[in-house]
Amino acid sequence: MTKLDINKPKFGELTKIASDLYWAHFELPFRLNHVNLFLMDTPEGILILDAGLKSEHSEEHWEALLNGPLKSKKFAGIVITHYHPDHIGMAGWLQKKLNIKCYTTEKELFTAKTFRSMPDDEYAKIFKNVFVRAGMSEEDIIAKGPATRLYKNRVYELPEFEIIKAGHEFNSNDGKWIVRTDSGHSPEHISLLDKERKLYLSGDFLLPRISPNISDNFFDPLDDRLGEYLKYLNEIQEIGSETRVFPCHDWPFDEGAQRAKDLIKHHNHRLSLIIEALNKKSITIMDSISIIFDRKIGDEQMHFAIGEARAHLIHLDVTGQAKSEMDERGTVHYMKN
Ligand SMILES: [Zn+2]
Repeated sequence: MTKLDINKPKFGELTKIASDLYWAHFELPFRLNHVNLFLMDTPEGILILDAGLKSEHSEEHWEALLNGPLKSKKFAGIVITHYHPDHIGMAGWLQKKLNIKCYTTEKELFTAKTFRSMPDDEYAKIFKNVFVRAGMSEEDIIAKGPATRLYKNRVYELPEFEIIKAGHEFNSNDGKWIVRTDSGHSPEHISLLDKERKLYLSGDFLLPRISPNISDNFFDPLDDRLGEYLKYLNEIQEIGSETRVFPCHDWPFDEGAQRAKDLIKHHNHRLSLIIEALNKKSITIMDSISIIFDRKIGDEQMHFAIGEARAHLIHLDVTGQAKSEMDERGTVHYMKN
């Protein structure tokens, strides 16, 4: 994988990355401290890809863009890649401001709507269940606890969405973008490929530096999200090495097929470490965290680590490489099959 020699855009500016494509870079108040948004010129106006996190910074940034490079432009719509707050958070705000159509997929919208409308106590309960299932002790749950960063605090009231499916086409001034949808980091994530011009807007699925977190499916504990993601990583290699990849985090790159191969290797390595441990004894999700991560996990990162560890164990379970049992408390124990 090679980083492309393109300077990241500054606050209130857009960087042109193709004849009809632009890149914006918004800061985030997290360890992952920024998100990339993209905009394209289309015959109907500008099509926005992702909206940013609900925050004062995002509002200021959008205002700066709308009063700067986007001043008196016509807008065609907003495409939201997935339900995570740093992507969908400002969709409602933008829709109100620009009165434009919003597009996403059915499962991403379902997840966003469910979390956005969930009462606080139910939200906390879901997180607690995740921790119990993983085998976290009661003391740790109380101490480290679901430091529940409520979804609704980071996502504006959702706008109306038009549902799109894999294969949907968006035409820009100089290209044709085909929507692909995949499960892994989220349930039905959108990425956009312009095959002809070899441009790929990869969302959060193909990132150059970090391995996209494989999240929990709170609604189906046996959903093999890692299996789905490995399928994506195999399929996406068809973009080859020349395609320029524009991800929602970090920097644009090429040799995306090699990056996909490296990510497969990374997950297979983690799977083999867990299998090795299962050969010795049964383990919980919490046990497996120290097996697959070679760094100490802080409280803020714990939820992601649990999701990631759990995805690997579920994959082994669903594919018959391990089996599982739930104890009385609700903790799942995984063992050699
Ligand atoms: Zn995400």
